Amino acid sequence: MDNLPLSAAAVAGNSATVAAADTQLPVDLRTPLRPDAFELDDDAKIEAISGHFREIMQVLGLDMSDDSLAGTPRRVAKMYVQEWFRGLNPAYRPEVRLFENRYQYRQMLVERDITLFSCCEHHFVPIIGKAHVAYLPGEHVVGLSKLNRVVQYFARRPQVQERLTRQIAEELKQSLGTDDVAVLIEADHLCVMSRGVNDTSSSTLTAEYGGAFGQDAALRQEFLRLIGK
Ligand SMILES: [Zn+2]
Repeated sequence: MDNLPLSAAAVAGNSATVAAADTQLPVDLRTPLRPDAFELDDDAKIEAISGHFREIMQVLGLDMSDDSLAGTPRRVAKMYVQEWFRGLNPAYRPEVRLFENRYQYRQMLVERDITLFSCCEHHFVPIIGKAHVAYLPGEHVVGLSKLNRVVQYFARRPQVQERLTRQIAEELKQSLGTDDVAVLIEADHLCVMSRGVNDTSSSTLTAEYGGAFGQDAALRQEFLRLIGK
């Protein structure tokens, strides 16, 4: 089996952006990454993962010369690097632009039912659900799609739902410049559904209430009512 192809070409690239992974977050909220996490560029990672995944399939006894299976290692590797785990790379961290709150909108803004697709870091199978986020605008408001993009950035990593919830809340607090942020995630974990306890009806809810959402029970109730809880 090949070792990681640490060619000069592979090592070149985006190392300048790299070391910056999650440094905006408190240490205990950062996704555990090694300092050399981005020494390989995406193409080199796809190449390496392809080789390793082919090995897994071979160990399972699959005939890799079958034309239905031959392309699978590369498809899986591309899916990991370019889609499922894209959010590991700080180069893809969404830039959250703020706009002046000219119309003095002061009520809660809720973005609900944000599609959430993540991956359980204990079993490497999908976590599928919805995220609901809210904030109280001050002098600034944010473009709505940025709320979805922040959710997606942190979801597209190997995750546990508790850390995901807190990462999204912390990022929003910092980029919106307010602690008045609420995040609620409801999700199904394929590792619970398809193995172990094999429970297909339970789901997992996690929430983080910052600032006024933590202090004001009525505000929290209003948020829950608006998202249909
Ligand atoms: Zn799991």
